[in-house]
Amino acid sequence: MIDQTLIKETVDYLEKKTCLSFIESKNEYTLYNKYLRFKRSNFCGIKYEPAGTLTSPYLTKPVEIYVGPNCRSYFIIGHLMMHGLGFHHEMNRKDRDS
Ligand SMILES: [Zn+2]
Repeated sequence: MIDQTLIKETVDYLEKKTCLSFIESKNEYTLYNKYLRFKRSNFCGIKYEPAGTLTSPYLTKPVEIYVGPNCRSYFIIGHLMMHGLGFHHEMNRKDRDS
């Protein structure tokens, strides 16, 4: 069972600190073609899609976020959610040294 409170706290945090807003979906057949699915796991991570897919308007598969026992913090979940929305680490930016 996923800690729903932790996910809600993380969503609240991101909505307060960014211009993002999230809508909870109770089933797979959502009207929205971009969504994050949280899965219980024994590790923390995200299922990466091939480059470009995450930001494609034609994305139909969910981005899966794996919630393991070592990622029980809004900071870690929020970090993974931002990756799931297509954000990369600042140090990986192509213009980092320019
Ligand atoms: Zn990261």
